[in-house]
Amino acid sequence: DNEANIMSGAMQLTNKYVKEVMTKIADVFMLGINRTLNYETMTEIMKHGYTRVPVFDSENNITYLLNTKDLALIDPDDCIPLSTVCKFYDHRPLYVDHDCKLDTILQEFLKGDSHMAVVQKLHNNGNHDPYFKTLGIVTLEDVLEEILQREIIDE
Ligand code: ADP
Repeated sequence: DNEANIMSGAMQLTNKYVKEVMTKIADVFMLGINRTLNYETMTEIMKHGYTRVPVFDSENNITYLLNTKDLALIDPDDCIPLSTVCKFYDHRPLYVDHDCKLDTILQEFLKGDSHMAVVQKLHNNGNHDPYFKTLGIVTLEDVLEEILQREIIDE
């Protein structure tokens, strides 16, 4: 039954990895920090409908999260740079290794700083300096779906 499912889902958190439940980077809607919050960009953001939009810098690193509610009072005619809004609110993502277990990331989310984490993998093949590759994003909802063992249908 339902409760037994939730129990077993919760117990599964210790042997499931972030990489198994993340949204792959190719499927993530994100924006470059050099964008302008004009009519075109604002329309694009609203059409996607996400609560949070990762923002990447010139080196393709996700350095900010844009909370779409922070756009409520912005006038597209003012053509405000996205960087201005990002720096003002300064929402930073969590960063997590792709081999992190779900119970660990759940603890991080429950601390409340951010409910979205950027999933990274460390590349270290000896030929050059080690670097992090971004594989995707994971949110609290992705972890909750594992506990409930079902999709959460969005409003
Ligand atoms: P929202 O509140 O925007 O619906 P949730 O945190 O509830 O976002 O996550 C719902 C699903 O959407 C999760 O699978 C999550 O990984 C994915 N998701 C969240 N934000 C984005 C985004 N900007 N681009 C692509 N997928 C996203």
